[in-house]
Amino acid sequence: MGDLSATGRRLALARLAETPLDVLVIGGGITGAGVALDAAARGYSVGLVERGDFASGTSSQSTKLVHGGIRYLPQLDIPLVREALVERGRLLRNAPHLVHPLTFILPLYASSRHPVGLPIAPPFGMGLDLILDTGLALYDELAGKQNLGKHRRIDRDEVLARARCLTPAGLKTGFIYHDAQTDDTRLTLAVLRTAAEHGALLANYCAVTGFAHDDGRVAGVHARETLPGDEGPAAAADFVVRARHVVNATGVWAEQTERLDGETPTLQVAPSKGAHLVFTREALDLGDEAIVLPETEDDRIIFIVPWQSRALVGTTDNGVEQMETPVATEDDIDYLLGHLNRSVRRPLTRADIVATYAGYRPLLRLHRRRTPARLSRTHAVTEGEDGLLTVSGGKLTTYRLMAQDVVDRIDRREDHKRRHVTLRLPLSGAPGERATEETYAHSTGEEPPLDNAVLAHLSGAYGSHACAVRALVRERPQLAVRLVPDLPYIGAEVVYICRTEMALTLEDVLARRTHIAIEDRSRGLDAAPVVAGLMAEDLGWSSAERERQLAAYRAYAQVQAGPLPLPSAAVP
Ligand code: FAD
Repeated sequence: MGDLSATGRRLALARLAETPLDVLVIGGGITGAGVALDAAARGYSVGLVERGDFASGTSSQSTKLVHGGIRYLPQLDIPLVREALVERGRLLRNAPHLVHPLTFILPLYASSRHPVGLPIAPPFGMGLDLILDTGLALYDELAGKQNLGKHRRIDRDEVLARARCLTPAGLKTGFIYHDAQTDDTRLTLAVLRTAAEHGALLANYCAVTGFAHDDGRVAGVHARETLPGDEGPAAAADFVVRARHVVNATGVWAEQTERLDGETPTLQVAPSKGAHLVFTREALDLGDEAIVLPETEDDRIIFIVPWQSRALVGTTDNGVEQMETPVATEDDIDYLLGHLNRSVRRPLTRADIVATYAGYRPLLRLHRRRTPARLSRTHAVTEGEDGLLTVSGGKLTTYRLMAQDVVDRIDRREDHKRRHVTLRLPLSGAPGERATEETYAHSTGEEPPLDNAVLAHLSGAYGSHACAVRALVRERPQLAVRLVPDLPYIGAEVVYICRTEMALTLEDVLARRTHIAIEDRSRGLDAAPVVAGLMAEDLGWSSAERERQLAAYRAYAQVQAGPLPLPSAAVP
């Protein structure tokens, strides 16, 4: 049960084509993963298909915060903030290996008029400190027992000591408050893996192309494999997956997916692009605390967040360009650099940027004239006339609750009593999984010394499964080698990822199972040949397939680089 290797995927596809299911989920982002887990944990037979790689949509492109969202307070989205803060607490408990508390420094400058999107602007900014203090007290209050520590006001000197990159000019005072952060992709993978451990059949690179009906009710989907180079009968043509309940969890594509059914969509998604810049921590002199720049001219806030070995700066919020491969454009880079440089001592330039990334928020159009920054982050579960369930909107932080709402609907249809089993369900890799520790104990050979940064990275990324990665290193000490000299990723992870996380392409490994594509200046192009060698060995790639994978990854890296040139050494 729960075999997420390439062979496991083939078996899952065969079973999906043969065995009618209770629930079929379309979309392998965090929302679809959550629905698959919740339904499987309540005892339903479940399948999930994702047209690209798991988390290849919005769920790998976020700011990676698990938060209530202080900027929804001035919009009086109190229920949203409250539910997200409660979910934050649950995630910290159920996935402590992947979700960590993070301290934020919020500076207040004399020039500030609408910090954190406040709708009112007191004359000369008088009383803004009191308003922020009250807002943060409400934030603490809304978290209730799950609060991570009370906010407090700090003086100018403490702001500058903790957020060393900030300019002192015009700084009046500041605040400290607490939230949490995660690795969005690895969180999605952990939810999927937990779903597979509860019996869910999962397949990436398998797109839904239409719906099957019985007596006017949705009774399954038409699906097609999308993996380049895929072989086998299922790859050649559409096949039908039959299920009594079909859930559309395709994020910004939810409306498009509903249209495959020939029905009028039940909800309207208003995608809004968000871009991030990635810097070294040194460039921003950033330690382990995040900074919030509280005001932009379009009423936004900008986060500077320490993340893994790097610092993330984001985000923008500006409507739709092209949806399939969102990238940070010249305008996005100018916008973010411009705001950053208004607040930092040492101006940053494009040469300081390690990488950029962008994604689309699945915002729901609930209020007609609202700008993207004010569109609702709330979620909705709707039901088409033929019974198709659609879930969209929400945030990474609230995925569990969204999934629970969907499966409650299914329980109601089935006349089952509601069972909220994921409230206290640890995600795969949470401390205490004995099986992986046993794998390590029984592996032979001596483990070559792994440095502290590598050990910390392995337990952060894989939790208790880190033992299984280390067992591979014991068996093949050469797998201890770093893939990129200044990043803590090692060769053993590539092998582990192929065997247990359904990684099938170079991009799956470099851009999602690891984050080399955004942490490395060459976007992983320097590491790609070694990674391709390890994958070829494990997945049985021919040399032609290895070359095809390398070419496809080069094309991906070029597109993602957008207007920023790749270092010349990395471009073949
Ligand atoms: P997706 O992750 O997009 O998943 C939908 C999946 O459906 C895709 O993988 C797609 O390939 C698949 N699909 C589409 N059509 C088909 C088909 N026909 N067949 C099969 N599969 C299909 N939230 C937070 O809580 N904290 C944050 O810090 C945060 N920051 C954000 C920053 C930005 C810039 C953005 C854009 C969002 C941020 N969010 C954040 C929101 C959060 O990332 C999203 O709400 C969440 O990832 C959406 O997940 P999803 O599963 O609904 O959509």
